[in-house]
Amino acid sequence: MTGSDRRIRVVALGGTIAMAPRNELGGVAPALDADELVAAVPDVPKLGRIETDAFAQVPGAHLRLVDLVRLSRRIEEAFKDGVDGVVVTQGTDTIEESGMALDLLLNTDRPVVVTGAMRHPTQSGADGPANLRNAILVAASEKARGLGVLVTMNDEIHAARFVRKAHASRPSAFTSASAGALGWTAEDRVRIPLRPVGRVFVDLPDVEELAAVALASVALGDDGRLLRLLPDLGYQGVVVAGFGVGHVPARMIEDLTAVAYQVPVVLASRTGAGETFSDTYGFPGSERDLLARGVIPAGALAPPQARVLLSLALSAGWPAARIAEAFDVLSG
Ligand code: ASP
Repeated sequence: MTGSDRRIRVVALGGTIAMAPRNELGGVAPALDADELVAAVPDVPKLGRIETDAFAQVPGAHLRLVDLVRLSRRIEEAFKDGVDGVVVTQGTDTIEESGMALDLLLNTDRPVVVTGAMRHPTQSGADGPANLRNAILVAASEKARGLGVLVTMNDEIHAARFVRKAHASRPSAFTSASAGALGWTAEDRVRIPLRPVGRVFVDLPDVEELAAVALASVALGDDGRLLRLLPDLGYQGVVVAGFGVGHVPARMIEDLTAVAYQVPVVLASRTGAGETFSDTYGFPGSERDLLARGVIPAGALAPPQARVLLSLALSAGWPAARIAEAFDVLSG
């Protein structure tokens, strides 16, 4: 089967790629549906047998984890129906989270590629059509099978679990600083010289609500007064985005320990790249100290991805040891 024989479904969720100035508030807002997005790629019939699904039309900031669970079920149905690959277009603000959620929920080798745009369709140099075209090429490629969910932006191909939105507005915003991009597209070639190791699936039962997980970033001189409230506010887990390799201020330790007695606490790095340590620093509030208090290291997963994993794992009833192992496996 060549790329052009493959059935590729484009599922549109909204985001800048689909925005237009049709909004009573002024500015741009989601307006274009999946067919309109595909129509902006002139040679699309050459790339595959393209189908569309107008799943949602929201900014990335409005998506919720339950929407991604629903989307994963819809993608499973599409695969059962014989679709070869899926492209999801959405707001780039939350691609880190939605890519991670789909990666954990979809137990498939078929390509699922998430993309979006940093410039809206009426802006000079709009990147949406090129990003969508590349995503379709990747979703139709044999090379993209078995890699987990991918994110294509700016001609690069990233593993969803490592990708970061590292700039607020540029088309080059997406990086995989901890692991590197897996590949790229050039002309109509898909190049994927690197393959991630280790996959984790969450077999989520039908649950009414997903476990609420808070993301708390530490800051200079933090005293933990916010952190200590989280379990009473109904959070069933907490991701702490710590300094550097996983450190918190000494004033926070008591509260963090108390929280870790009540709910699982995952320790990530707020730096945007690299992994949490386990055995180097030995001062109060260091990674060694916090791990001894039962905190789970996020490894190379960034805080947004760590929060998605913790929420889905808790919703599936995983114990702390299994959650810790998942972070380790996904770190490579
Ligand atoms: N700037 C965002 C985007 O790139 C807005 C959003 O996430 O909806 O799509």
